[in-house]
Amino acid sequence: MSYCVHCGVKLSDGEKRCPLCLTPVFDPAEPRRSNAPRAYPVRTPEQELKKNKHFLLIMAGLMLAAPALLCLIIDLLITGSITWSGYASSALILLFAAVAVPLALEKHQAYAAVGMGFLCLNIYLFLVEQLSNSGAWFFPIALPALSLCAVMMTAVILMYRRNVLNRLTLIAASFAAAALECVAIEWLISAANGKSGDFIWSPFVLAPCAFISLALFFINYNRAVREEVRRRVHF
Ligand SMILES: [Zn+2]
Repeated sequence: MSYCVHCGVKLSDGEKRCPLCLTPVFDPAEPRRSNAPRAYPVRTPEQELKKNKHFLLIMAGLMLAAPALLCLIIDLLITGSITWSGYASSALILLFAAVAVPLALEKHQAYAAVGMGFLCLNIYLFLVEQLSNSGAWFFPIALPALSLCAVMMTAVILMYRRNVLNRLTLIAASFAAAALECVAIEWLISAANGKSGDFIWSPFVLAPCAFISLALFFINYNRAVREEVRRRVHF
């Protein structure tokens, strides 16, 4: 067993260079064996993880690219133009972009997921509006609804990261945001149709979401109840 003369790290037999500082190893007492097992892995665990992530991303890309291409080919063969396959292929491409970009990042993955999700959903819904000739609903309804959703999600993530919210209040805030989103969507739809103030279905979403949200906030801020719940279900 020998050690690096420069940094003192332990060297395996037959090591030609120190794995840490790359100082050449010269041990006159030991004949060189190039096939000796290495004392250290070739890659660090972080490098290994990164390599696996890249492999997974490439595999996911290929798995999504194949059906996207297939849809386009079938559509072109049958109808001679891009009709329904436009929806399927763009959905697959945008889904990959929305998942791959945050995954490929080292930091701020949650914010990137919200941002990419927002961007890709907007592009997709805009494409659907353009392709389907179903009237102008993207700018009056979809864009403001998605913007509100993205802003609320970013705020919730930010508050969770800053420890303003714990795991329980994170769920409570998410229910409150979902309820608000539904009310906003119904308001946007009725405003786009020229009649504001008609809330028909959103109260049915608002009521249970608000109840769950308030119950969770109550559990969180009432110490005795919180401890009792914590004993029964671990959170
Ligand atoms: Zn060394």
